[in-house]
Amino acid sequence: MTTALLYHPVSLLHDTGIHHPESPLRIKETLSVLSEADFDALDRREAPVIDKAKLLWAHTKDHVDGVFQAIPDTGYVAIDGDTVICKDSGEAALRAAGGICAAVDAVMNNEVDNAFCLSRPPGHHAERDRAMGFCLFCNPAIGAYQARNEHGLQKVAVIDFDVHHGNGTQDVFWSDPDMFYGSTHGSPLFPGTGSEGEVGVAGNILNCPLPSGAGSYEFRKVMEDKIFPGVQDFRPELIIVSAGFDAHREDPLASLNLEDEDFGWVSRRIVELSQKLCQGRLVSILEGGYNTHALSRSVALHVRALMNATD
Ligand SMILES: [Zn+2]
Repeated sequence: MTTALLYHPVSLLHDTGIHHPESPLRIKETLSVLSEADFDALDRREAPVIDKAKLLWAHTKDHVDGVFQAIPDTGYVAIDGDTVICKDSGEAALRAAGGICAAVDAVMNNEVDNAFCLSRPPGHHAERDRAMGFCLFCNPAIGAYQARNEHGLQKVAVIDFDVHHGNGTQDVFWSDPDMFYGSTHGSPLFPGTGSEGEVGVAGNILNCPLPSGAGSYEFRKVMEDKIFPGVQDFRPELIIVSAGFDAHREDPLASLNLEDEDFGWVSRRIVELSQKLCQGRLVSILEGGYNTHALSRSVALHVRALMNATD
């Protein structure tokens, strides 16, 4: 039993243009850290292409068709001010969503204890009917529906510690009382959603905004006081993590002040929670993190926490 690492090199070909913060370098540097001997025990798997029909679990047909119709033969297309695609972005997005589905399969089939998906584009800003904030398809929600539709699970919780609110995951889960979304995020900050009053159709959304400048203490406290109890009360059969590392103090896109070790801490706590609530079933997927050095160090601590769960 071990930790799976889902990855495919096409994630490096999703080119967002020079100076775009969501760059292939994020994956390249992280992969380099994960190639060190400490990570030899990872079960490395190629992220497969998802069956496009599964995208409709989380998205409208118009949205899915619109993304593929927008993909250029050469150069770039900006779907919005932030979200840029090139000719390889379609395959990268299909393998990001396919990777989390394969990770869910591997965990549910007891081939591995847990899994991390090192993929881009990220997913948590993609709403039911639109791409947004560097995201094309809502990978965490699609992974949750893979668990339900292919493995018969009823209840899945997504924990999102990216510094930005996952408006997309919230949007997809809003009317589904058997899907839980719990998020810590900076506020005010893009995308502007994620107030405490946004609770979903059945209290299945739990938003915990943090003020600019908040750091380790505030983050750990809100996790312990709100997010973890919320997940515990929900009683999920699988936990999915939207693992964004842009709440790091060195990140250029936000103003929270987490340290490397906060990501190690939250990862260990989520592993413990999964062991307590759902037989250790845990699938994590990369969201944000735009200082590539801080990102790769923090991902290393995150993946180490997942691997130690299997010792
Ligand atoms: Zn983010």
